[in-house]
Amino acid sequence: MANCDTCEREVALDDNFCCSCGTELCHETIAIKYYFKQGYEYNTIVEFLCKFHGISMCVRTLKNRLKMLGLGRKSMDFNEQEVRERIMREIDGPGSMSGYRSMLHTLQREGYMVPRQTLEDLLKELDPRKILWLQLSRSNNNPQVILRLLLNAVDACGGCPRKLRSDCGTENGLAAATQCYFTNNEQAHIYGTSPHNQRIEGWWSYFRRSRANWWINFFKDLMEREVFTTGNDLEMSSVPHEQQKLSSSATSRSQVSQFAMF
Ligand SMILES: [Zn+2]
Repeated sequence: MANCDTCEREVALDDNFCCSCGTELCHETIAIKYYFKQGYEYNTIVEFLCKFHGISMCVRTLKNRLKMLGLGRKSMDFNEQEVRERIMREIDGPGSMSGYRSMLHTLQREGYMVPRQTLEDLLKELDPRKILWLQLSRSNNNPQVILRLLLNAVDACGGCPRKLRSDCGTENGLAAATQCYFTNNEQAHIYGTSPHNQRIEGWWSYFRRSRANWWINFFKDLMEREVFTTGNDLEMSSVPHEQQKLSSSATSRSQVSQFAMF
């Protein structure tokens, strides 16, 4: 749905007249405003106009039209405090797992034309959390493996975290004790129930959808072609651990570290 120029009520993109105020609608203007407010790039808007409305124009013409409609992206003013509050609401709510692009799109859809650099700076300030390290291992129930990963990270970062949270599994016992020893504070480690770990759980699910699924399907395909059998220990040592859902192969590890660097 788009909006009528005169009364701002909703109209369909192919309506000839506004059913609220009766004004004759200009398809081109309605479509341009609609796609612009949805946050599409100029090139995409030009393609949509051609494909769905039979209107052909070049990007330069589109920019001129937008300027005449008072919709220049760079010139658009926005209230920083308002944007700040909107971002905070998004971070505290269901949008907490979304990244920079998704946040930009949400703001654009609501009419906030925030320059990319400004949004990046605001996000760094309002949500400075980032992944410092992320590692995969074949075993997820050996306390020594978990401890080794933590020690490697402490060594690489040159310091330990102020707080460490893990789930209640026995595999986290050594890491918990070491964290309390490092900080000389028995409160420095907390056992969180799984609902409290939803941020990282949400991240895993995102990672699985965006990166790991390819590997899972790859190995499933090998099994179907009988190139690989799950009963063979040697072959199993190079594929995803069923419980961990992710592969410990060097390639998959590099996928994870690429993700962590981002
Ligand atoms: Zn109207």
